Amino acid sequence: MSADCIFCKIAKGEIPSNKVFEDDEFIVFHDIKPIAPVHFLIVPKAHIESLLSTGVTHQDLLGKALLIAPKLALQLGLKGFRTMVNTGREGGQEVFHLHIHVFGGSAVLPRT
Ligand code: 5GP
Ligand code: ZN
Repeated sequence: MSADCIFCKIAKGEIPSNKVFEDDEFIVFHDIKPIAPVHFLIVPKAHIESLLSTGVTHQDLLGKALLIAPKLALQLGLKGFRTMVNTGREGGQEVFHLHIHVFGGSAVLPRT
């Protein structure tokens, strides 16, 4: 938990979110400013700043995080999707708590 981290607060239920899924290790919720018809975020509950802060000890967590994407995408009716992990300021990251974006719901998504 990082005191001022918005995703830690969402994970603890201190800030509401439009939740898709939750277990001991992850919370998944719809992005507040979606850029596709379906746009959700897979967020580990542990405060990890970004992929730059991960190492071999996070291998299981990262694998599990990625496996959540197809499971929930199918549940939400998607037949395909795009994933994105912005990493560091240079990588366009705005919230410094690791998360995987999942986009879908349109036949053609813009190339970024
Ligand atoms: P990134 O850090 O990868 O650039 O993106 C952070 C994402 O988190 C953005 O797409 C933004 O819309 C989303 N976001 C920021 N604050 C909140 C929030 O309080 N609730 C939800 N559901 N999404 C948020
Ligand atoms: Zn956090």
